Amino acid sequence: MEGRQSSIQSEEEESKRAFCLIDQLSMGAKNFKYVILGGGVSAGYAAREFAKQGLKPGELAVISKEAVAPYERPALSKAYLFPESPARLPGFHVCVGSGGERLLPDWYKEKGIELILNTEIVNADLPGKTLVSGSGESFKYQTLVIATGSTVIRLTDFGVKGADAKNIFYLREIDDADKLYEAIKAKKNGKAVIVGGGYIGLELGAVLKINNLDVKMVYPEPWCMPRLFTSGIAAFYEGYYQNKGVKIIKGTVATGFTADSNGEVKEVHLKDGTVLEADIVVVGVGGRPLTTLFKGQVEEEKGGIKTDAFFKTSVPDVYAVGDVATFPLKLYNEIRRVEHVDHARKSAEQAVKAIKASEEGKTVEEYDYLPYFYSRSFDLSWQFYGDNVGETVLFGDSNPATPKAKFGTYWIKDGKVVGAFLEGGTPEENQAIAKVARAQPPVASLDQLAAEGLSFACKI
Ligand SMILES: Cc1cc2nc3c(=O)[nH]c(=O)nc-3n(C[C@H](O)[C@H](O)[C@H](O)COP(=O)(O)OP(=O)(O)OC[C@H]3O[C@@H](n4cnc5c(N)ncnc54)[C@H](O)[C@@H]3O)c2cc1C
Repeated sequence: MEGRQSSIQSEEEESKRAFCLIDQLSMGAKNFKYVILGGGVSAGYAAREFAKQGLKPGELAVISKEAVAPYERPALSKAYLFPESPARLPGFHVCVGSGGERLLPDWYKEKGIELILNTEIVNADLPGKTLVSGSGESFKYQTLVIATGSTVIRLTDFGVKGADAKNIFYLREIDDADKLYEAIKAKKNGKAVIVGGGYIGLELGAVLKINNLDVKMVYPEPWCMPRLFTSGIAAFYEGYYQNKGVKIIKGTVATGFTADSNGEVKEVHLKDGTVLEADIVVVGVGGRPLTTLFKGQVEEEKGGIKTDAFFKTSVPDVYAVGDVATFPLKLYNEIRRVEHVDHARKSAEQAVKAIKASEEGKTVEEYDYLPYFYSRSFDLSWQFYGDNVGETVLFGDSNPATPKAKFGTYWIKDGKVVGAFLEGGTPEENQAIAKVARAQPPVASLDQLAAEGLSFACKI
C-alpha cells in the first residue's frame, strides 16, 4: 500500500515536472510573426520579398540547419569545385543567381530579420504553431513558410554493400561540397567513379575531369538525363564527354564497393561483373523532398506538400515553396512538383506576395509558371523551357566534335510546340525559345520545323 502511494506521488511529481518543462519551453519560446523554415534558395528569395513588401524588425526569422546564410545552391556542382579560383561565399549568396542584390548576413541584420543558423528543426506542431529544434529551443509563429527543400537518396538506403566506405560522396549542401573539394585535392590525378547520369552526374563528371581526375560514369539507362533528354540530345553530351576523356558505362548499376584498410573506397562493383578502381565516388541518384516533419499534419500529393496557386497548404497560415511544394501548373492544367532553382525563387516570391496581400484582404494573381531548367558543364550551357511531352524534332549542329556546337529540340503535342531545348544559345536565343514554349505556336509540319530550327523560335 505504502509502495503504491509513493509510486502515485512520484507519477504526480513527474507529470508536474513535465508540465513545468512545457511551460518553461513555451515561456522561453521565441515568437515571430513569420517563420521561414529552411535556409536555401527559396528561403533567401522569400526573405528578400518580405523585406520588399515591408517588414518590422523582429517580425521574421529564417531557421536553417546550415551554417551559412542562403546561397545559390547550383554553384556547388559547378564553380565551387573548380581547381582554379573556385567560387566561395560570400560570392554566391542569394540573389546573385538571378542578377539580384547579394544578401550578406549583414543584410538580414539591417532588415531586422533573425537568421537562426546551425539549427535543425526536429519537431513541427502545425496546429500548435510551434517548431522545436534539436537542442530543445521552441519557435512560435503566426505564419509559416516551409522551405526545407530536398535531401539526397543514399545507396546505404538500399543496403548496397560497402556503400558506407569513406570517399563516397553525395552533394546537396555546402558541407558536402567542402568535403568533396578536400577529397579532390587529396586524390590529385586519381580515379573517380560517378554513379548516376542525371544533373548531378553530368555536372560532377565534368568538374572532376576539369580537376584532372580519371572519370568514369555509370548509369543504368540507355542514355543520360532520360527524364529530360531525348536520345538525340543525349548523344551529343555523351559524345562530348567521351571526347574530353570521360568513360561512360551504360546499362548497369553499382551493386557494391570495397574499401582499403583505411576504410577508403577502392573498388566499385557493377552488376555486369565489371570492377572499377576508384579513389573517389560521387553518387547522384536523385533526391526526395523533406516533408517528414509534417507527415499526417498537412495534405500531400505527388510526394510533396499540396498547395494552391498561392502556395498555401491545407493548414491555415502554412505555406510551402520550392522543392517541397506540389502546386497547380496552370499552363498544363495539372499539379506538379518541380525541383529546380527558378521555381524555388519564383514560388517563394509568390507565397510572400500572397501572404502580404491576404493581410490587407487583397489577392494576387495565380502562379502561372513556365518550367525552366538549365545546366552548365565544361564550356557547354543549355536551357529548357516548357514541357517535354509529345513528338520531338532535333535541329542545328549536334555533332559533339564541332567547336561551339549549337543545336536544339522542340517537343510537339497536339500540333503545337510545347517545349524547347537549346544548347549554346545567346541570351536572345534563349529568350526566343522561352517565348515559343509559352506561346505554343501551331506547327505545319515536323520536317519544316526541323529545317527552320532556331529561326522558327526567333520569329515568334
Ligand atoms: C548540387 C546541386 C546543383 C543544382 N544545380 C541546379 C541547376 O543547375 N539548375 C537548376 O534549375 N536547379 C539546380 N539544382 C536544384 C536547386 O538547387 C533546388 O531546386 C533549389 O535549391 C530548391 O530550393 P529550396 O529552397 O526548395 O531548397 P534548398 O535550396 O535545398 O534549401 C533547403 C534548406 O532547408 C534546410 N532544412 C531542411 N530541413 C531542415 C530542418 N528540419 N531544419 C532546419 N533547416 C532545414 C536545408 O539545410 C537547406 O538550407 C541543384 C541542386 C543541387 C543540390
